[in-house]
Amino acid sequence: MKIAFSPPYINDNVKEEVLSSLDSGWITTGPKVKLLEEQIAEFTDTPNVLCVNSWTSGAILMLKWLGVQPNDEVIIPAYTYSATALAVMHAGATPVIVDVSKDFNISVNAIEKAITKNTKAIMPVDIAGWPCDYDEINRLVADKKHLYSADTDVQKALGRILVISDAAHSLGATYKGKQTGTLTDVTIFSLHAVKNVTTAEGGAICLNLPHPFNNADLYNMLRCYSLNGQTKDAFSKNKPGAWRYDIVYPGLKINMPDVLAAIGVGQMEVYASKVLPKRVSIFETYHKFFSNYEWALMPSYKSGETASSCHLYPLRIKGATEAQRDRIIELISEEEVAVNVHFQPLPLLSLFKGMGYKISDYPMAYDQYKNEISLPIYPQLGTDEINFITATVAKSVEKVIS
Ligand SMILES: *Cc1c(COP(=O)(O)O)cnc(C)c1O
Repeated sequence: MKIAFSPPYINDNVKEEVLSSLDSGWITTGPKVKLLEEQIAEFTDTPNVLCVNSWTSGAILMLKWLGVQPNDEVIIPAYTYSATALAVMHAGATPVIVDVSKDFNISVNAIEKAITKNTKAIMPVDIAGWPCDYDEINRLVADKKHLYSADTDVQKALGRILVISDAAHSLGATYKGKQTGTLTDVTIFSLHAVKNVTTAEGGAICLNLPHPFNNADLYNMLRCYSLNGQTKDAFSKNKPGAWRYDIVYPGLKINMPDVLAAIGVGQMEVYASKVLPKRVSIFETYHKFFSNYEWALMPSYKSGETASSCHLYPLRIKGATEAQRDRIIELISEEEVAVNVHFQPLPLLSLFKGMGYKISDYPMAYDQYKNEISLPIYPQLGTDEINFITATVAKSVEKVIS
């Protein structure tokens, strides 16, 4: 049975929304983007949401807004996709990579040890959709205020380290009863093709800055910044007589087109009611199945009022070496089931090795990675397919580790 890893969920709502954008005579940033921003704002309980063309460009935008400089440090986990680090580098700051905890997420202890007077931001990552311990992280940045040195007006107004959550995986997750989006100063979702909600490529920035910031004003400023720093977007400029504009910031060109936002609008219409519950139910089926096996280390997904968005099912095989894990993946692939590994810790990749990072300094990240296999999890999977996946995984693991 051939099973894809993560095909996009394209239902009739999506097709209708895309056609309506195409038929409207307006395909770049305009009413569909606005609508998608409103849907995400409502769903996450964050009034100010800005859509851009990727998570990566959204993170670069927010770090540029913060005004980071080459000596400034941004703390990120070793266990993440490379974009988390690259965004910091493209914004002109220095990534400081720290180790993680047993649940794949950044270690609060490791953050505490890494904070210096140059730390300007922390970017925790909600791996697989499981939220980081934000109460602890927010408490830590408050406790470290005395170390903070502000260089820009934004930094002076904030007076402490900025927390930007890399919520690429966690749209729909909750932490102590609150939606991701509301948990930190800034939350950025990815709407890339493999994520829980997609626009093919895209990102959504939730703004939650404390007093004295005005998040509605900030939204307007960032929207302008994301469109070359131009005071009028193409949609308003297109109206008769409205031709004059000004350029007020050295902006980026990272706006989201309407025709792509339309895909997201169609998906958001069914995300809370259908897609997210289906992901949770597949996750629970896996959980129940693998709890019968002594070798299975199952991922966290629920604890009190904290719940995962079930973006990935990162199964770990107790005691397996990296080579055994790779062999298990070969056997699973022979049955035409596509699985993956999330993630190769950054210090294993050439770029970061070249910057002097060594995997031996990240024992927890390596331990999580070496025996991890991500299983397919998406709403199109039926019962037969899920049964085939679980049986294939169990058979392959037992062949290798017994
Ligand atoms: C997908 C992903 C990103 C990058 O998202 P883009 O929208 O492709 O820029 C960043 N961080 C993590 C953890 C991701 O999985």
